[in-house]
Amino acid sequence: MHGFGVDDVALDDPLLAPRRAASAAVGLPRLLDELESHGVVDNFRRLGARADPGRRGLWFTDSDLYKWMEAAAWLGPEAAPRLTAVVDAVVAVQRPDGYLNTWYVDERAGQRFTDLGGSHELYCAGHLMQAAVAHHRMAGDRRLLDAAVRFAGLLWDRFGPGGDLDATDGHPGVEMALVELARETGDGRWTVLARLLADRAFGDRLERLSGHAVRMLYLAAGLTDVAIETGDAGLRATVEGLWDDLLTTRTYVTGGVGGRWLGESVGRPYELPNEASYAESCAAVAAALWAARMLALTGRADCADLLERVLCNAVPAAVSVAGDRYFYANPLASAAGREANPWASPWDFQAQALLDWYPATRKVWFPVTCCPPNVNRVLQLAPGLAFGAGAQGREVWVHLLGAASGTGTLADGTGVRVSVEGGYPVDGKVRLTAAAADDGPLTVRVRIPGWAQPGEVMLSVAGAGGGARIRAEPGTYADLVGRGGPVAAELHLDVRPVLVASSPRLAENRGSVAVQRGPVVYAFEGVDNPGVDLLSASIDLRRAPGEERVDDPVLGPVTRVRVGGRVPAGGPGPLYRRLTDDAVDERAAVELVAVPYHQWGNRGTGTLAVWLGRA
Ligand SMILES: [Zn+2]
Repeated sequence: MHGFGVDDVALDDPLLAPRRAASAAVGLPRLLDELESHGVVDNFRRLGARADPGRRGLWFTDSDLYKWMEAAAWLGPEAAPRLTAVVDAVVAVQRPDGYLNTWYVDERAGQRFTDLGGSHELYCAGHLMQAAVAHHRMAGDRRLLDAAVRFAGLLWDRFGPGGDLDATDGHPGVEMALVELARETGDGRWTVLARLLADRAFGDRLERLSGHAVRMLYLAAGLTDVAIETGDAGLRATVEGLWDDLLTTRTYVTGGVGGRWLGESVGRPYELPNEASYAESCAAVAAALWAARMLALTGRADCADLLERVLCNAVPAAVSVAGDRYFYANPLASAAGREANPWASPWDFQAQALLDWYPATRKVWFPVTCCPPNVNRVLQLAPGLAFGAGAQGREVWVHLLGAASGTGTLADGTGVRVSVEGGYPVDGKVRLTAAAADDGPLTVRVRIPGWAQPGEVMLSVAGAGGGARIRAEPGTYADLVGRGGPVAAELHLDVRPVLVASSPRLAENRGSVAVQRGPVVYAFEGVDNPGVDLLSASIDLRRAPGEERVDDPVLGPVTRVRVGGRVPAGGPGPLYRRLTDDAVDERAAVELVAVPYHQWGNRGTGTLAVWLGRA
């Protein structure tokens, strides 16, 4: 299916819309200030003006600026003045042969494409292309697009079918970008090059996800883009296999990916530790981008379920509610700074920068600042993920159920308007209307979330005679078939808080439960539970969770969940002990309070627990 344009959809939901607004008002302006003060923009200006104060930062910082540019482009006219100035600086340094990178110039010019495993040259080129596509699609401005096409032409000459280089970049990302460039320009060479580079990147290692989480998910997303454009059935089967691997053994309950710090890796199946999680913010962004592509390719509802899981939890948790600070790694449990970062030692030079990641607090800037602009770009492009139009027939798809309205184009070229109202995911009532511009027949495919229970979903379509109930199975799309004129329906979902468990194969969560309310995962924080050792606490399964809506001075409106809990009366106790009934029963009753995980860590540094034991 095809998505709707980012600027053709307005989000008005209580979760993503305020985060997108904070990104626009605070996140993007402050981030450009940081990129300026760390010399990332000056790296371009010094080459353009030939006034050379020396290059600053690591060799791949160009990509951080490109990601900021893409986010600013998706935001639209509001960011245009500062974006235009940055575009000027970037296009001014392109070499006559199309090459554009502020590291491999001057005395390093001879090293171009000689260290592809670590140089990130194609990765940076990919982010330039993505920014260029966004800038052209949103503002109609060709300058950056023309620069990206010239660079792509050089890559075609060197890496393409007749080129002299048969390698690829150690950090994928350019594959997605090349396919987007092909879509934007209509030049199919870029899709061919994307396929070629992706094949070189992983060869026959594509049965399971492996290695660096962000690189792996970017590559999978790029392959999915190629499958969409080429209709290659074998490639589709490959990416569906990888997708199943992601869903069945590699995803945190928050939608985060990548349990292992070592190598920033996806780890082994079920390797999803809570306090020791890596779950890089960029991996959450990558999971969202891949989910959207898998959804476009297959229409599978589990793609939309993961897209929602990531967008309601891991992505907004990566940035502060105010929009100015970011996580790189995203823990699901934290002992509030009682230990140093266990993965970084004072003897390890490379790990020095990681030392100040503990205790877990969001930061304005990182020496490798890949995550902050990435989080902003996915928040800014999010409106384009809400709806889709089927590749055939007259069908429109509603993926995200938060309030939004937008216009798109059906497969036969007819315009279509969709409007979703309600307070989802804070409340479960969703009102939906859709109409084709010619008032002709229209099928509306409404997502019924996989987190719902069959008896708790009610879908009714409005019409003559007072409307009719429609069969709605969780984890599928329900079809509303309209024979002409607007289609209107109401969906009722039960979003009262529930307890969820994980597979017993996920060793760290064995015997544990987490709180989820609709698609929103909850977090227990020290600030809401003073005096309680949360990392030793259990949830009392006999008491149904309660909830209350409060106005928090920092978090704004928040739905808090209350559960009955137990904590060991004498503290955590010895490391090992003989199991006796006394020891099991010796637990004091407490009341535990939780807030949405995406809002955790905004009220000072404190303890965090998502998974608690069962009492
Ligand atoms: Zn990152």
